[in-house]
Amino acid sequence: MGRPKGSKNRQPYNRAMRDPVERFLEKIEVSPNGCWVWKGQISSNGYGHFWWAGRMSTAHRFSYEFFREFIPDNLEPDHLCRNRSCVNPDHLELVTRSVNMKRGLLGGHRTHCKRGHPYSGDNLYVYPDGRRLCRACARITSQRGPEPIAVGNE
Ligand SMILES: [Zn+2]
Ligand SMILES: [Zn+2]
Repeated sequence: MGRPKGSKNRQPYNRAMRDPVERFLEKIEVSPNGCWVWKGQISSNGYGHFWWAGRMSTAHRFSYEFFREFIPDNLEPDHLCRNRSCVNPDHLELVTRSVNMKRGLLGGHRTHCKRGHPYSGDNLYVYPDGRRLCRACARITSQRGPEPIAVGNE
């Protein structure tokens, strides 16, 4: 007699069934700047491809979901390092789709200066060669010492 085959519900071994994390870690190479460069398949738009949970997804998305948190539908991971083949979860942040597209169009240009002033409107000065100046910062750096403030004299 004996048990009929398959009664223990065992899955046959195949490559896709291997631990996805193990497969993932085999495909990365840490570069000197901290990027985890994807050594696996890269799509035409520059993102690493990774097969997991029964479907083809992007490698950086897997990395973010595994090492950090689940990605809601309206958000997607954006590369802070601008390196699309990088899958380091610390180089990713969740943004809405439209922000991601906007950043892509700006070519990674920042929308704010290092102090957080907006590069827009009256605060933005563009040199003839294209460099941008934050007027608020220019005011700060042109002053030596703190700005004099009239206290209690409104
Ligand atoms: Zn990176
Ligand atoms: Zn500024």
